[in-house]
This record gives sequence, C-alpha cells and structure tokens, in this order.
Amino acid sequence: KNKDAFNAKAELIKIGLAAERINPDLFESHPRYISLKEEYDKQEIMILGEAGVLAISLILGIWFINSGYRRQTEAARQSRNFLLSITHELKSPLASIKLILQTFLKRDLEREKVMKFSDNGIKETERLEDLVGNLLLAARMESGFEIHPEKIELFPLVNYLVKKVKTGKGKPEIKHDIKEDSEVFADKAGITSLLLNLMENGVKYSQGKANITISHSSNEKSDTIVISDEGIGIPKSEREKVFQKFYRMGDEDTRKTKGTGLGLYIVKRIAEAHGGRISVSDNSPSGSIFTLVLPKQNE
Ligand code: ADP
Repeated sequence: KNKDAFNAKAELIKIGLAAERINPDLFESHPRYISLKEEYDKQEIMILGEAGVLAISLILGIWFINSGYRRQTEAARQSRNFLLSITHELKSPLASIKLILQTFLKRDLEREKVMKFSDNGIKETERLEDLVGNLLLAARMESGFEIHPEKIELFPLVNYLVKKVKTGKGKPEIKHDIKEDSEVFADKAGITSLLLNLMENGVKYSQGKANITISHSSNEKSDTIVISDEGIGIPKSEREKVFQKFYRMGDEDTRKTKGTGLGLYIVKRIAEAHGGRISVSDNSPSGSIFTLVLPKQNE
C-alpha cells in the first residue's frame, strides 16, 4: 500500500513537473521527488521495524504460552500422582492398624500372637511416621532449609541405618567399607535422612533380594559416599527427573512399589544445602549407583 501511495504521489509530481515544463529526465533529481523518496524510505523502515517487533512479540508469546502449558500439565500430572500415592500410603497403614485393633477387641489371642500383631502395628505406625516426617521435611525445604553441621562419626551411623533397613522387608544384603574412624561434618538429621532414603530405595527398587553396597572415600576437599544397588536401574532419560518433587517413574495406576516421590527430592535438597551434589549412574550388570559428594565444611 505504501508503495502504491508512493507511486501515485511520484506520478503526481511527474505531472506537475510536466505542467511546469521541466525536463522529465531531471525528475529523479528534483527536490520534490527526493523528499518524497526519503519519506517513503523512512516509512518503509518504520513498517519493517513494527512488523519485526510484532513477529518477535508473537513468537515470545507463543513460547511463553507453550512453556506455561507444559509446566501446568506436568504440575497436574505430579499432583495427580501425588494424590494417588499419598492416599494409598496413608490408607493402607491406617487400615492395617485398624484391623489389628479390631482383632484385639474381638478375640482373645495368645500372647505370642498379640506380640506379632503389635509388632506389625508398630511397623505400620513407623511407616506413617516416616511419611509424615518426609512431608514435613519437604515442606520445610520449600521455605528454605537451614543446616546445622556437626562432626558425625560415619561408622556407627551407617551401622545403625543398615540395621534399620535390614529389618525391613526382603532381608536385604547390605555391605559397607566405612572405616571406624571415618567422620563427616554435616547436619545430622539431614545426612541420616539422605542415607536412609537412598538405602531404602535400593531395597525398594530391587526385584527379589536386594544387594546394596555403601562406600566412603575422602580427600582434603570433599567426602564421597557411594550407594549402589543391583535393582531395576534408572534409564538415562529419567535421571534428572527422579530428583523432582513428587516424581515417580511409570504410572501410578500400574505401579506396585510404595512411595510418594519425595525421597530423592529431599536427598537432592539436603545435598545442595551442604553445598554438595548427588548424581546417579548405571551399575553393572544392573542397578543404580548414587554418588554423593559433600565438600568439607569449615568446622
Ligand atoms: P519414591 O520412592 O517415594 O517413589 P523417590 O523420590 O525416592 O520416591 O524416587 C523417585 C523415583 O525414582 C522412584 O519412584 C523410582 O521410580 C526411582 N528410583 C529411586 N531410587 C531408585 C533406585 N535405587 N533404583 C531404581 N529406581 C529408583
């Protein structure tokens, strides 16, 4: 349109110049034509500029809408997963405890059975306690997680955790090479929760009897703790995602293992709060290796 207007105006100037009997060959060097051409060029640059800004805004807008949409669908998927798993995780121990108490009420049981049922009831209560603990810990991490590092003897801590995990289901095999004088400077509750989560995952994601190895090494800059299992492993494409809050591999409707998708999120946040990092790689022939690197803290 701009070009049409320009051509029409140039034509008018040409007619005007012809009427004034000015040589038409000099038309393009006439001041009236030159100023019209300058104005036309300016307008053309302006129009191109506006079109460019519009196109960039449009692309940015589409990009924002698209990434927002993807974030929303991912959040919806996670919250659905979380609701399904949390409902299950809360309901099943509560149902077990209720059943145990109802059995106590209805029947006169022998002492041995009472002990067995009570033991199961305590285990279910501990499961609930762990779940609520993890939920609270994850919520605390949202609002900034403060660590209180102290000197921790690794040998008794790992022994205690190994014992705790070993009494769980499936009688897992857990070995470690921690030396009796090994120490780390870290937040006690944090490092305990981190190691426990990794060890329990090793058991949970192993088919049959779990085989877990824990090792510790250190240099003047950092401590490295490696926890490996021979379980189902984590494919490369999932290795970043498993550390996200509420992320669980697979589909909640078909998954058989219990969990909330909070464990590795908590592990990562604790490692980061210490200035460290956690990563996962393949074990051979199968399984995962979780490597925690904690920089030496200033005591
Ligand atoms: P949860 O165990 O409650 O599902 P986590 O945050 O601890 O949550 O783990 C997230 C997901 O990562 C798990 O659902 C599981 O699919 C995968 N995962 C974690 N640890 C292991 C492991 N040692 N081996 C195989 N997969 C694992």
